[in-house]
Amino acid sequence: MSQGLHADRDRSFALAQRAQELMRDYGPSATPRAYAVWYTYVSGEQPLLNDAVKRLITQNRALTEDDTTELHEQYLGGERLIAAAGETSTTLLSEIEGIVEILNLSVGSATQYGESLRVFSEDLSRSTLTGETRLHDIVATLVAATREVATNNRVLEARMRESRSEIETLREKLEETRIQSLTDALTGLSNRKHFEEMLGKAIDVSAHQRVPSSLIVLDIDFFKRFNDLYGHLTGDQVLRLVGIVMREAVDKNATLARFGGEEFSVVLPGKDRAAARAIAEKIRLGVMGRELIKRSSGESLGKVTVSVGLATYRAGDTAISMLERADLCMFAAKRAGRNRTVDDSASNTTFEDVA
Ligand code: GH3
Ligand code: MG
Ligand code: MG
Repeated sequence: MSQGLHADRDRSFALAQRAQELMRDYGPSATPRAYAVWYTYVSGEQPLLNDAVKRLITQNRALTEDDTTELHEQYLGGERLIAAAGETSTTLLSEIEGIVEILNLSVGSATQYGESLRVFSEDLSRSTLTGETRLHDIVATLVAATREVATNNRVLEARMRESRSEIETLREKLEETRIQSLTDALTGLSNRKHFEEMLGKAIDVSAHQRVPSSLIVLDIDFFKRFNDLYGHLTGDQVLRLVGIVMREAVDKNATLARFGGEEFSVVLPGKDRAAARAIAEKIRLGVMGRELIKRSSGESLGKVTVSVGLATYRAGDTAISMLERADLCMFAAKRAGRNRTVDDSASNTTFEDVA
């Protein structure tokens, strides 16, 4: 047992040391958030986080503060929400236990009352009544018992009402937390977690019911330059705007998501390549068509464009294979000059192509 504990401790020290080394080598700086990201990375507990980190390192050779904030939010922040949901559920459970108690109480007093009535009616039927006094006693006791039950009922009713409104509030909170845990706070679109769930569902339906489904991945062109020129907050406004344009381009069956940083995705259940391509183009042209004006100064910031990759379901596809294909198409769109949509009909989108 203690050997096991030592082994655990040794392992966690080794992980901590490795996390520190990586944090030193790949940045950004020694913040608790960066440490949490690197520690999770070396622990290997979140393969998706590891993929994202590797991608960022390949692209930029190091992580920026933005990157760690984003990674923390996407892959570790969710835990905070899950913990909040847990707390709310616990409160809800104890509230329900309270109600059951109240119900037991209420049933108890009703049974007692019923019992008193039974005794009195037996008395009556046995004709043990010997005059008015006896009758008077019975009625007086009966009235007292009835009054007690009525008072109890009023108290119980009030407590039930309180509980009901408390439960209603908790239910709303729980729903709010559930939605929050699936939403990207900046754009209000779905987050990666919800996106992956919905993509999985769309693939399932395509695999079993022979209906098409498609996936769009899009990335803002030269966004780093935009941020450098106009600042991060203005950049965030652009992310919101892309979200708005995306919403206008789809029907309610689509799932729109901010996938991370300045990358977005759309799950399109039931849409074949042609239909999905039309939506992709609507988004691309919609973004390109918006001239960006700085609200505070009225200054024109020009336009941004997006590069779009599109994959349509093929037999045997998984969420990962579809995502990879859509990503390859998006990179092909970047290489071909950006501001365009590339779908997976061409054979030029292979892994070797971007290796
Ligand atoms: P490319 O056309 O090749 O995509 O060029 P790019 O500059 O858009 O691509 P790159 O991936 O090098 O840069 C992405 C930039 O997106 C880096 C970062 O400044 C910005 N970014 C990522 N997340 C956010 C965010 O949440 N808000 C803002 N404002 N910018 C972000
Ligand atoms: Mg990018
Ligand atoms: Mg980009």
